[in-house]
Amino acid sequence: MSATYRAVEVRRPKEFAEVRKPLQNPGPNEVRIRVEACGVCHSDSATVEGLLPGLTFPRVPGHEVVGRIDALGSAVQGWAVGQRVGVGFLGGSCGYCEYCRDGDLVNCANQAYTGVQHDGGYAEMMIAKSTGLIAVPDDLSSVNAAPLLCAGLTTFSALRNSSARAGDLVAIFGVGGLGHLGVQYARRMGFEVVAIDRGGDRAELSKKLGAHHYVDSSSADVAKALQALGGAQVVLATASGGKAVAAALGGLRRGGCVISLGATDEPIEVSAFDLLFKQLGIDGALTGTPSAGDATLRFSVISDVAAMIETMPLERAAEAYARMMSGNARFRIVLTMQ
Ligand SMILES: [Zn+2]
Ligand SMILES: [Zn+2]
Repeated sequence: MSATYRAVEVRRPKEFAEVRKPLQNPGPNEVRIRVEACGVCHSDSATVEGLLPGLTFPRVPGHEVVGRIDALGSAVQGWAVGQRVGVGFLGGSCGYCEYCRDGDLVNCANQAYTGVQHDGGYAEMMIAKSTGLIAVPDDLSSVNAAPLLCAGLTTFSALRNSSARAGDLVAIFGVGGLGHLGVQYARRMGFEVVAIDRGGDRAELSKKLGAHHYVDSSSADVAKALQALGGAQVVLATASGGKAVAAALGGLRRGGCVISLGATDEPIEVSAFDLLFKQLGIDGALTGTPSAGDATLRFSVISDVAAMIETMPLERAAEAYARMMSGNARFRIVLTMQ
């Protein structure tokens, strides 16, 4: 093995550079991973545009990382060299904070974000904390597993932890990178599924992915359309701003909830009367635990859920990122390291 590896880093906001970095040994609680595939996620923009606290440059982005463990830290237990693993956005919990001690690993107070506070997967090698690792089943390729580690885990975990039960009406607002997986998971989990997107283009695709109904938000009133179907127990708002979330609230049945997954700071305007008299909820969901990650990958294999993927080699990371940001990718882009 050469003592350096290839990586694509962000040198300063919006500027990518392909570099060779010196190979590092993992710390006691870390593993070194030989990366095979890394998804390009919209949240990478937080790194590329320098939006999150604790971010310093240069930084290697990428938090949908799949590879094989190449070296183990001295204190790591439960993982083996050669094992194929995934790393998502949450870089691994600390085990000792108030939240960890209560079993709430997602909200660990000492958890770094992969590709934000430490280098991520736009690279041939990466170092990861063992507490953040996800097990990749043998019958799932690294390319196919990559987008499931963020886009998949986020939608799967949000639906699994929601109040919706089999047979309930569940709407997926936005059939894009997250939503095209959300529709598949919702259908396989036994919900009556409504896909919502702007225009008629995604209607046929949504049905193919498993939606029972399609609502075109550019021509129909989303709230009325959902109420005509009986009202949704859960609306997963995947890429939408505050206005879309507010519109979706009107489509809930009493006791229903909108789960907002869109990373936007646009405020959500809502009537306190609705929250009170209809007992509506607005929630957010930040990916999920490593164990939910394991479940996401297993569920995807046994239920035939797959992301629609375009692949590009690592050296075209800047182009891949630009294509993802343009909204033209169908629907996830995965970087390959060969
Ligand atoms: Zn913690
Ligand atoms: Zn992501």
